[in-house]
Amino acid sequence: MSKLIHFSTLIHSYSKLNHFNNIIITLYHMLSEHVLPDSRVIPSIIKACSGLTSLRFGKQVHGFCVTSGISQDPFLQSSLVHLYVKCGELNHARKVFDEMPQPDVVSCSALVSGYARNGCVKEAELVFNRMVEMGIEPNLVSWNGMVVGFNQSGYRLEAVMVFRRMCLSGFKPDGTTVSGVLPAVGDLEDVLLGVQVHGYVVKQGVGSDKCVVSALIDMYGKCSSVKDMSQVFDEMLERDVGACNALVSGFARNGLTEEALNAFNRLRDQKLELNVVSWTSIISCCSQNGKDIEALDLFREMQVSGVKPNAVTIPCVLPACGNIAALMHGKAAHAFSLRTGISDNVYVGSALIDMYANCGRINLARVCFDSIPVHNVVCWNAIMGGYAMHGDCVEVIKIFRLMEKTNQKPDFITFTCLLSACSHSGLTNEGERYFNKMLNEYGINPRIEHYACLVTLLGRAGKLNEAFNAINNMPFEPDACVWGALLSSCRVHNNLKLGELAANKLFNLEPNNPGNYVLLSNIYANKGLHQEVDKIRNLMKSKGMKKNPGCSWIEIKNKVHMLLACDTYHPQMDKILYKIDELSMEMRKLGFLPVTSFVLQDVEDQEKEHILCGHSEKLAVALGLLNTPQGTSIQVIKNLRICGDCHDFIKFVSRVEQREIYVRDTNRFHRFVDGSCSCGDYW
Ligand code: ZN
Ligand code: ZN
Repeated sequence: MSKLIHFSTLIHSYSKLNHFNNIIITLYHMLSEHVLPDSRVIPSIIKACSGLTSLRFGKQVHGFCVTSGISQDPFLQSSLVHLYVKCGELNHARKVFDEMPQPDVVSCSALVSGYARNGCVKEAELVFNRMVEMGIEPNLVSWNGMVVGFNQSGYRLEAVMVFRRMCLSGFKPDGTTVSGVLPAVGDLEDVLLGVQVHGYVVKQGVGSDKCVVSALIDMYGKCSSVKDMSQVFDEMLERDVGACNALVSGFARNGLTEEALNAFNRLRDQKLELNVVSWTSIISCCSQNGKDIEALDLFREMQVSGVKPNAVTIPCVLPACGNIAALMHGKAAHAFSLRTGISDNVYVGSALIDMYANCGRINLARVCFDSIPVHNVVCWNAIMGGYAMHGDCVEVIKIFRLMEKTNQKPDFITFTCLLSACSHSGLTNEGERYFNKMLNEYGINPRIEHYACLVTLLGRAGKLNEAFNAINNMPFEPDACVWGALLSSCRVHNNLKLGELAANKLFNLEPNNPGNYVLLSNIYANKGLHQEVDKIRNLMKSKGMKKNPGCSWIEIKNKVHMLLACDTYHPQMDKILYKIDELSMEMRKLGFLPVTSFVLQDVEDQEKEHILCGHSEKLAVALGLLNTPQGTSIQVIKNLRICGDCHDFIKFVSRVEQREIYVRDTNRFHRFVDGSCSCGDYW
C-alpha cells in the first residue's frame, strides 16, 4: 500500500468521525514524510479546517491547492466555499464561487446562507436566483439557509417572504424551516400569519418536533395569544425544557407573573430538569413585576438545586436586591460574580452599580464602577443615576465631565440623570444650561422626562410661572409626570392657583391615583382651607379610592422585614410602638410639634398623632433601632413619598440616637445625619 493511500484512508476515517484535530495531525505526519495530499483527500482536510473554524490552516491548504494546480477541482472548490462561509470570509467565498465553472447546489446553499446570516439580503437573493437560472434545483439546505439566516440577522419580513415562496413552489418545509420562521413571525407580532404557519405545521406533520413546539409557544407568547400558547403546551406529548422555558417567558412577557410562577412550580413538581435559562427567566419575571422577595427566594432555590447562575441571571436578580434594599443578598450575588469571573461584564457591572446605589451604598457603587475595565454608556448612566438619586449633584457633574473627556457619547438617559441631579440640588442655572446643551451640542431632542425635570428644576427654585410656561411651550402633550412635577412644586411653595390647575389636569389623566388628591389637599390644609380638604376627601370616598397602603422594608441580619402602615402583625410591634412613643415624647419636650396636616383623615388632633405613629417608615426605623447595634446605620425603603412628619421625626432620631439613617422613597434618597437631611427638606 502506498504511503498516500495509507494516510488518505486514515484521514477519511477521521473525517467520518469528525475528529478534526486528528486530521490536522495526520497531515503534519504526511508532510514530514514528504507525502503530498491529492485532490481526493484535500476536501476532507478542508472540512477539518471548517470544523475547527481555522481560517489560517484553511488558507494554507487553499494556497497549496493553487500551487499544485488542483484548485479547479469542483468538489474541492465547493468545500473551500464552505470553509470561507463558516469563517465569515464572504468575499473569499464569493471569489472561489465565481471561479467555479459549474457551481453545485452545496456551494450555492453555503453561500446563500452565509449572506443571509450576515444580513446581505440582496446578495443572498441574487445568488439564490442565479442558482435557479442555472437550472440547479434549490434543496432544503438552500431554503433553510435563507429562512434561518434572514431571521438570525433580523430581517424578519424577508424570512417570512422566503418561507412563503418556499411553500408556494411546493417545497415541503421541515422542523428547521419552521422553527426558523416562527421567531420572525413572533417578532412581527403577526398572529394571523402565525396561525397559518401553525396549520401548515400540523398538515405537514412536523408538529411533534420539539424545536417546532417551542417555537410555536414562543411565537404565540410574542403575539400575546396566551390562550393559544397554553393550548400548544398542554397538547404536547412529551415535556421538554425548551418548551417549558418558552411557556414561562411567554407568561412573563405578557405581565402574567402569577401564571408564570404557577407554570414554573408545576414543572418543578413534575421533576422536569430545569436549566439556567428556565430559572433566569422566572427570576427576571418576578423582579420586573415587583415580586422582589420571590425573585430572591427563587435565586436561592436555584443554587440549592445545583443550577449555576450565569452572566444573564445576575443582572436579573440584582434589581430585586436594590428594590427592597436587600444589601446582604446583593453582596452575595456580587461575591458570586467575582468568584465566577463575570464581574467585568458591563451588564453585570452596571447592575451591581444600580444595586449598591439603590441600597444606599453609593461608595460601593463607585468601587464597582471603577473596577469595570471598559465602560459603555450603560455603566456611565448607572453611576450618574446613583449619584443623582443620592442628591450628589457635584459628583454627577464630575462624572459627566469625565465621560466627555473619554469621548463617550452621552444618550438621553445621561441627560435625565444630569437634570434630575440638578433639580434635586437646586442648581437651576446649571440644569437649564444642560437642558440646552443636550440639543445644541449633542443633537438629542428633549423627551417628556427631560421636560418633567425642567419643571421640577424651575419649580424648586420657586419659579412656578416659568415652569408653567415651559409646560405650555412643550412640543408634545404634557403627561402625568410633568403635571405631577408642577403639583409637587406647588405643594412646597404653597401655590394654590397653579396647584389646582395641575391637580385638575392630573385628575383627568390619572383619575384613580390617590397621590394627586393627597397633594392638593396638603396645599388646602396648609392654607387653612378645611372645607376644601373635606371636599377632596369626599371625592376620594365617592370614587372608592383609598390612599395606597404605605409599606416600608428594612433588612436586619440578612432578613428583609416588610412593615405596613398601622401594622399590628409584626411580632415586635409592642416594643416598636413603645420606642416611638418614647422618642415622640422627647421630641415634644425639646419643642418639636408633630405636623398633623399630613394626615388625611377625619379625626381629632390627638388621634391624628396616633395615626402618625403608625406610618410604615417610622415603624421600620424603630425596628432598626431596636435590632441593630448602637452607632450602625439604618436603611429603610418606602413605597410612597415620605411624609413631612416622618421626615421631621427621622431627622430628630438621627440626632438623639446618633445614627445615620437612609430612607429611600419613590423619589430619591434621604440621608439623615445629626438632625438634618441630605435633601435639604425638599422632596
Ligand atoms: Zn409619615
Ligand atoms: Zn430628606
